[in-house]
Amino acid sequence: MNFCCTSEYNVKFPIGNLKISYCERGIHSIENKTDMTFQQTSLEFSSSALKETILWLKYYFDSNFEATQRSVPSICPSVFISKGEFKGHVWRTLMRKAPPGHTVSYGELAMACGSAGASRAVGTAMATNPLLLVVPCHRVVRANRSIGAFSGGNGIKKWLLTHEGVQFHGDMVKD
Ligand SMILES: [Zn+2]
Repeated sequence: MNFCCTSEYNVKFPIGNLKISYCERGIHSIENKTDMTFQQTSLEFSSSALKETILWLKYYFDSNFEATQRSVPSICPSVFISKGEFKGHVWRTLMRKAPPGHTVSYGELAMACGSAGASRAVGTAMATNPLLLVVPCHRVVRANRSIGAFSGGNGIKKWLLTHEGVQFHGDMVKD
């Protein structure tokens, strides 16, 4: 059930246009949208959740990763509840375990979630992640360290990881 009254805001960032959906309790989703008209970034908003999120994204794209770790925007509690307990658990675990510049494999993330055999369910949780960048599904790679799939586009995944200082050999992450 969702009692939230959500609004949307579109903003342009280096990886394209991001659509932010939010309510007064926090953000609901950040999606990569390739074709849409966008609004200028301005911090004069009535919603503190939106303000926090746009500031956080600016920190991220300015490579101020320390600030991104310090000030994660408020996420509406309904986001973690509505998609099922396990997905919420996986997303929270990933936020803790994979800071900027670090990658984990699906198996490692499943293990960190306390469900070593659940790589596939972890993969589903990543594919349905509603919060691009905030829940860093782009930091999850295959067991052989190849970059793997990314719903936002594999080129974007590599761009984001490179932006965070991850080094590559072809499409393989160098540890
Ligand atoms: Zn909400």
